[in-house]
Parts: sequence; C-alpha cells; structure tokens
Amino acid sequence: MYNTKAYAAASATSPLASTQIKRRDLIEHDVQIEILFCGICHSDLHSVRNEWGGTVYPIVPGHEIVGRVTEVGSAVTKYKPGDLAAIGCMVDSDLTCPHCKAGLEQFCQNTILTYNSPDKHLGGVTYGGYSNSIVADERFVLRVPDNLDLAGVAPLLCAGITTYSPLRHWGVSEGKKVGVVGLGGLGHMAVKFAHAFGTHVVVFTTSPDKTEDALRLGADEVVVSRNADEMQKHAGSFDFILDTVSAKHDINAYLNLLRLDGNITLVGAPEKPLDVAAFSLIMARRSLSGSSIGGIAETQEMLDFCGEHSITADVEVVPIQKVNEAYDRLLKSDVKYRFVIDMASLKSE
Ligand code: NAP
Ligand code: ZN
Repeated sequence: MYNTKAYAAASATSPLASTQIKRRDLIEHDVQIEILFCGICHSDLHSVRNEWGGTVYPIVPGHEIVGRVTEVGSAVTKYKPGDLAAIGCMVDSDLTCPHCKAGLEQFCQNTILTYNSPDKHLGGVTYGGYSNSIVADERFVLRVPDNLDLAGVAPLLCAGITTYSPLRHWGVSEGKKVGVVGLGGLGHMAVKFAHAFGTHVVVFTTSPDKTEDALRLGADEVVVSRNADEMQKHAGSFDFILDTVSAKHDINAYLNLLRLDGNITLVGAPEKPLDVAAFSLIMARRSLSGSSIGGIAETQEMLDFCGEHSITADVEVVPIQKVNEAYDRLLKSDVKYRFVIDMASLKSE
C-alpha cells in the first residue's frame, strides 16, 4: 500500500477538500498510472451530493482519467512504464458472465466502478481520479492515441463513450436525422460523433447563447427548447434523439418529435423520475430506452475513432483548487463544454 494525494467530500453537503488516500501495491495484472488530467462529469456531482442515494463517504470522485503508466505488475503485457493510458467508469467486473463475455462489462452484476464501489483489495470503497495516482487491472485500462491533446482526451472516457455507444447501438448513420438534448459535457460529444457519422444533427438547448458553439461543434440546426413554435416545426421528424439532460424536464416534448418507430435514448440521469404520457409513445410506435457508458472494447474503439478523426472534448482546464467552483458552474449549465482538472495542481497541496 502507498499514500497518494486526493480530493474528497466528507458528506453530501461538504465541499471537496484535500486529503490522502491509500492505493494497493501492484498485483500481477495491475497497472499503476500517474494521473495527469481528470474530467469533471455531472455524475461526480450527483454522487458527491448523494442525489442518487448510496454514496459512501468520504467519496473521491473522477472517472475520466488519463495519465502515464508508472509501474506494471509481473503479468502485464499491454502496457509498460511511460505509456499513455486511461481509465473510465469501471475498474473491474467478473469477466465470466454473459454480459462480460459479450463485451458489455457495464451491465455485469459484479462491475466495480472507479469510485464508490466495494474495494475488494483494501476494503471500504474505490476511490476515483481526483488524485495523483491510481492502480487498476490492465483489462480495464485503455490505450490513448498519441496524436490527441491529453486534457481533451480525459472526457472521452465517460462523456465520449456514453454518447458514442448508443449512437452506434441505434444505427445512427448517414442520412438519419438525430437530435441531441442538452449541450453540456455529454451533449457536445454527441454532436461531434453524430456529425462525424454523417447525420443531420439538431441540438436542443435551454441556453440560447450556446447556438454559435453548437453550429461550430457540428450541429446543422439549433432549437431553443423553451420556444414551443420552434419545437413544433420538428414534430414527427427524428429517427433518433439522445437526451443528456441532468435535471427533470418534459420528455414528452421530445417523444413527439420522433417519426414512426423513432427512439429516444436517455443517458442523462436526473435525480427525479420523468413523466411519460402513454400517447407520446403509442401514436407512432415510438420507443424510449436508456444506455449506460459502454464496454471496454467499445471504449477502445471510440478512442481509436477519436484518434483517426482528431476528435477531443472542448475543455476548460482548471486546477483542483477550483473544483467546488466548477461544480457550482456545472449546475448553472455554465461549462464549455467539460471541466478537466490539471492534476499537477494537486501535487502542491
Ligand atoms: P452537464 O455538462 O451539466 O450537461 C447537462 C446539460 O443539460 C446542461 O449543459 C444543459 O444544457 C442541460 N440542462 C441542465 N439542466 C437542465 C434543465 N433543468 N432543463 C433542461 N436542460 C437542462 O452534464 P453531463 O456531465 O453532460 O451529464 C449529463 C447527465 O448524464 C448527468 O445526469 C449525468 O449523471 C449523466 N451521465 C450518464 C451516464 C450514463 O452512462 N448513462 C454517463 C455519464 C453521465 P443546455 O444549456 O444546452 O440546455
Ligand atoms: Zn461520467
């Protein structure tokens, strides 16, 4: 075991503050990574404030991790010290169940999340990426293309895969009309991917001042969702809509925009349930579904796709000392479009 610096919250109402945590000594398949950048996902905020229930304190959030390998266990074949490497939302699963065998580790009953899951090595719960060093099994460590800006890579590990996976699953491809609801961390990645897949992308935003950015990011049209007339113009026209909104909102307004057999997939995870009107689904055989991050192989596929197409997140890099301020801004939708912590700032604490 060794100590490393981290930022943790002691309760649902405490700010994140500097602390020391323990990481395990390497076992045979382990990779130790010096964390260079870690993204701030809205899920970090939901978890720190216990909005979904089940948070164990202290919590060290962070599941958009990129860094350099510092040491490897005796059986590690994929990585060596000095390599770039990344970790997303999961650090382990049973690897034997049908979901794991199908490359869908995120749906395994025994998935260990990067933070706030039982830690079978050290007891207590796992601690995430708001820290200087992490140890994980190489099977949950991803290769990072070497042509990309590293701060912009970090958000790919959650915001990237969470939007890439449902777009792929629902066959979103050239000629399809695709909506993206909410232009935050997830939403802006969805726009980049849907654009790269050759679709007609329409962004729905509550923030009119994001219009120009949305077009620059790859949207073909932008609708300010509070304007009912603008919404009505798109009624019954979408093949697929990805909903990334982090707070309660009217899902029926979007269901009504789907064409026959169209689908809305929720990736946003509001604290409170959404109300679905049966007729929003019945009238055009529409469907509403959900999606959780993506499996390890698909995450690697997404990172390689980003390398080939030079795709990264648009980030505002902040020192760890500004993390609480960043959370407050996230709640006001004031982020363009992902906060990423420069983990070097933690070394001076
Ligand atoms: P984010 O950066 O805060 O973006 C959320 C966006 O939603 C905001 O920028 C805003 O966009 C819109 N929004 C916020 N409040 C709203 C409201 N009251 N009504 C309508 N729109 C509102 O958050 P994120 O990191 O992208 O995460 C989004 C959600 O996805 C969170 O709930 C997070 O926990 C969840 N998530 C799920 C998964 C998964 O595997 N399913 C993975 C990661 C995250 P505009 O300003 O454009 O309106
Ligand atoms: Zn996340």
